[in-house]
Amino acid sequence: MPRPIQAYIDLSALESNLQVARRATSARLMSIIKADGYGHGMLRVAEALSASDGFALLDIQDAVRLRDAGFRQPILMLEGFFDADDLAPVAEHDLACVIHSPWQLALLDAYPKNGQLDVWLKVNSGMNRLGFAPQQVAQAMEHLRRHRAVCSITLMTHFANADEARGVKEPLTLFNEIAAPCRVPRSLANSAALLRYPETHGEWVRPGLMLYGASPFAEVSAQQLGLKPAMTLSSSIIAVQELRAGDEIGYGSLFRAEHPMRIGIVACGYADGYPRHAPNGTPILVEGQRVQTLGRVSMDMLYVDLSKLPQAGVGSAVTLWGDGLPIEEVARAAGTVSYELMCALTERVPVVC
Ligand SMILES: *Cc1c(COP(=O)(O)O)cnc(C)c1O
Repeated sequence: MPRPIQAYIDLSALESNLQVARRATSARLMSIIKADGYGHGMLRVAEALSASDGFALLDIQDAVRLRDAGFRQPILMLEGFFDADDLAPVAEHDLACVIHSPWQLALLDAYPKNGQLDVWLKVNSGMNRLGFAPQQVAQAMEHLRRHRAVCSITLMTHFANADEARGVKEPLTLFNEIAAPCRVPRSLANSAALLRYPETHGEWVRPGLMLYGASPFAEVSAQQLGLKPAMTLSSSIIAVQELRAGDEIGYGSLFRAEHPMRIGIVACGYADGYPRHAPNGTPILVEGQRVQTLGRVSMDMLYVDLSKLPQAGVGSAVTLWGDGLPIEEVARAAGTVSYELMCALTERVPVVC
């Protein structure tokens, strides 16, 4: 028998979450499948989300894999091209490109062909990551409009706080001022903005996280949003230890038993993608019951408190996150976000659909 850990990817959950996005907007849906489909497997995600109006990702090779698999939708390169050599495959495979910096305009100018490039001009509306400064946008827009290799322009931005109390007010106002005279399609919304701020929808929305069934909001659960978890990470207990009062467990002896207790050893560790920083008390399911982790997560194993589950033992099923235990809760306990946990799943974990 193989090591019991596995990640189950629920393809019908992906489809259903896409429908939640569809019902929330009349804009076109560009499904974000970067980072190997947020760790779910890019091609299988694209197939489950084939009703999307477009896909967005980062690597040209991945975009080419999508084209080779027969996807005909617009594919947006979220960081655009990285050097002059990228322009030929971009054109050949009809990939839309974000243009976020003046150096990319210069590369476009040097491109020898009369192309048919779809470009998404990115505005820095306050996040200060990628994008042209507001006062540079009109000039960049004119440049692209006159460019012989450009056949369409979409104006986009990205929000820093759509999932937070601060919301989108300031960047939205700024973006709208910039966009008004341009008269081109607009794209602003990530999952949080799609779900909470219809005024940001524009012509294209760009949901990521919600498609994988996690909530972008701290105070609203995925279930409340009608989202279903697409990834369930599970394993089982491979050993049991009976602790006496005073016994300690794991590296650094992070937990010490106050009284006699039973603990289970779960075949899952940080080399599988479970967060090493998950502290004592991180939620975990054993035989469907919610209990807690104890001690420090090691490379291949972690500890679980079986005090409340006398019937549990070697072979008991464990859910690390997913169906029955929202990944957001595990992420919060570990001081991170569900995005990071999804992406952290490692190669050695067998995936089943
Ligand atoms: C990753 C990403 C998204 C998706 O964000 P979610 O919070 O996962 O919905 C949208 N737009 C851009 C530019 C991104 O990089």
